[in-house]
Amino acid sequence: MTARPGENLLELTPREALHRLEAFMRAEKLPAYRARQVARRLWADPVATFDDITELPVALRERLAVAFRIPRLEVITRQRSSDGTQKFLFRLHDGQAIETVAIPEGNRVTLCISSQAGCALACAFCATGAMGFQRNLAVHEIAGQVREMRLVEDPIRVTNIVFMGMGEPMMNWRAVDPTLTVLNDPEGLGIGARHITISTVGILPGIVALGERPEQFRLAISIHAPSDALRQELMPINTKYPLSQVIAAAQVFDRRVTFEYVMLGDVNDRVEHALQLAQLARECRAFVNLIPLHPGGARGFKASPNDRIAAFARELKSQGIEVATRKSRGMDIAAACGQLRVERLGRRAPGAPDEHGDVQVA
Ligand code: SAH
Repeated sequence: MTARPGENLLELTPREALHRLEAFMRAEKLPAYRARQVARRLWADPVATFDDITELPVALRERLAVAFRIPRLEVITRQRSSDGTQKFLFRLHDGQAIETVAIPEGNRVTLCISSQAGCALACAFCATGAMGFQRNLAVHEIAGQVREMRLVEDPIRVTNIVFMGMGEPMMNWRAVDPTLTVLNDPEGLGIGARHITISTVGILPGIVALGERPEQFRLAISIHAPSDALRQELMPINTKYPLSQVIAAAQVFDRRVTFEYVMLGDVNDRVEHALQLAQLARECRAFVNLIPLHPGGARGFKASPNDRIAAFARELKSQGIEVATRKSRGMDIAAACGQLRVERLGRRAPGAPDEHGDVQVA
């Protein structure tokens, strides 16, 4: 595709975009309030095109469309599960495809967003891991997944965000960092920091960088095994960031962390695992989220039976650990990490695991 002219306003934080628009209005000899009118149409009350900002004179809309861009993400498919979960597959400008899942629960709608196309980490049970790394997403592609929910037919009011779609957010911190600002800023999407969770395999510099942000963003760590030996088998990243270091990072993180633990039948679901996990959770006062395995994409693994999961949860509780078992949602629409893309587009050859470098702390 040929690059379109004009600066992409959705790559900027709301404050940066406002400054940029104010400079534009000054140059056009127009009043400053025009900049604010445009700025609130980027995220807070989004429009599909500049032409839809009907509160502006037509001539100004046309000038804006020459100077700037507000790119959309193209919906390839939208599927609805019988339980109300909706899954979107978006096509990006270079043909990459990413997934977004909207999960309603009571008054809340949690949007599960992607931060990379593909993933380099190759966790053994994960469909995204099997497809390899394609590229990092830009700010407007990550936050744009939330923006699109307001623009699609039958719009969705998102109240909570989890970075649990495709990719490892801490390996794309350069874009995730400003994206958090866009999501949280009242002039942006206005979602409370406590309602935004970043999930990571335990990329240490990323955990430190998130901890340095003043907002109360939540951290979830994919633990999945209570010993280095087992974690190594499931998550190759454990060689670079071993469990003990991840636990130490969680201890110094100044807010409550959640451990994610996917229940793999006969692999990590025995009582002795629960006891070891309880010890780790105690060390950093973590909340434990048990995740039933989504079977799609998890070749060679089977889900733990429900009674096994219940017994595991009971064991953790008896050790004084707070625990919840996540409900599996969207089973009928392949809603686990990476599954829809695999189903639609097939698997691609994995990228070299290190081609994207390490976490970039801006
Ligand atoms: N890379 C980040 C975020 C994306 S995955 C991370 O790993 O935390 C979000 C969560 O879904 C992770 O805990 C991941 O391990 C889990 N997951 C991946 N494949 C799954 C599957 N087939 N069934 C259940 N959970 C899965």
